[in-house]
Amino acid sequence: MTAGGGGRLQALGTALRRWVDSHAGIAEHEADGPLRVDWLRVAPFLGLHLACLAVIWVGWSWFSVAAALALYLVRMFSITGFYHRYFSHRTFKTTRAGQFAFALLGMTSVQRGPLWWAAHHRHHHAHADEDQDAHSPRRHGMLWAHVGWITARANFPTRLRLVPDLAKFPELRFLDRFDVLVPVLFAAALFGLGAALAAWAPGLGVTGPQLLVWGFCISTVALLHGTFTINSLAHRIGRRRYPTKDDSRNSWLLALITLGEGWHNNHHRYPAAARQGFYWWEFDPTYYGLLVLKWLGVIWDLKPVPARVRESWRTERAAA
Ligand SMILES: [Zn+2]
Ligand SMILES: [Zn+2]
Repeated sequence: MTAGGGGRLQALGTALRRWVDSHAGIAEHEADGPLRVDWLRVAPFLGLHLACLAVIWVGWSWFSVAAALALYLVRMFSITGFYHRYFSHRTFKTTRAGQFAFALLGMTSVQRGPLWWAAHHRHHHAHADEDQDAHSPRRHGMLWAHVGWITARANFPTRLRLVPDLAKFPELRFLDRFDVLVPVLFAAALFGLGAALAAWAPGLGVTGPQLLVWGFCISTVALLHGTFTINSLAHRIGRRRYPTKDDSRNSWLLALITLGEGWHNNHHRYPAAARQGFYWWEFDPTYYGLLVLKWLGVIWDLKPVPARVRESWRTERAAA
């Protein structure tokens, strides 16, 4: 075998290992040029999209469709409330056990581990719509800002230096490394539940494969693209209340899809707050959910929006 062939075989092996262990070959991984798509690495992501077509064979039932919708809502909350407002911005406090539970719930969304997610997101806030921003519609166009950026080798590694406050927890580092573990267990659990219902409650018309396709594949793909709209559309459609240096905008439509994240211009103006709807009429279900968790005693110290920041658009717009 030639040296080139051996090298290619080794690269193939590393790429396959990364499906399970995201740290495999991490050294050469980081050196892999800026914006190349690693097709082998993203094959499972593409496969998840293709698997939605299996709906042709598995059919549907009210139970499976309701499960897909409920799992979209619960997992969108886990992304917005936990990955975004807790891990990325630390806008409230919880216990270490609570933090671990939030990480597990967030990981069922198949958006990798909280360290990877938070590190990329903190980088976005530091460089929003500048050259270094991994997902800026202004810099890279809408398609790249929406989904292209996560297929680039340069964006696979977790930028640990941006999340030292989270990386100090070994349990979070473990989840970050083996980030496929929770999604696989979650998918298997849905298949098992569907199979159990087929046996014990055949009247529901549910089967294992059907609940896997609706509850995992379709729900997750919708959830992924719902989340992605904040990187693409929230920097393009809607109004700008605050003249921030980026292109962020406020959109009620995106707030509806993402349970409150559509108030993205508010958020870029003041990322430290637990709420993103700054006024009572700005629909922010994630914040309402966080208030419930606070009432239950699960979280505390939710950071508010200072009135001076909220009203700053009056003077900032006049000066701009
Ligand atoms: Zn943004
Ligand atoms: Zn943010």
